[in-house]
Amino acid sequence: MHLLALEKAAKAHGVRVQAVIFDGPMQPKLFATAPGRELQGRMQFVGQAWIRHDEHYHVNFAVPCR
Ligand SMILES: [Zn+2]
Repeated sequence: MHLLALEKAAKAHGVRVQAVIFDGPMQPKLFATAPGRELQGRMQFVGQAWIRHDEHYHVNFAVPCR
């Protein structure tokens, strides 16, 4: 729900979510939830993070230059 809220807020500010780093072993639990299923179709797997992210996740925003 937080990731969906961040995506909505980003759109409202004219930016987009570029990347989310979310712990690999935790992803099945995320995608087993209704909000997670909503995210799953829009997320693209690009690889493993170099350290575990089991207690937090990262959200990078693509912010255009003005
Ligand atoms: Zn981290």
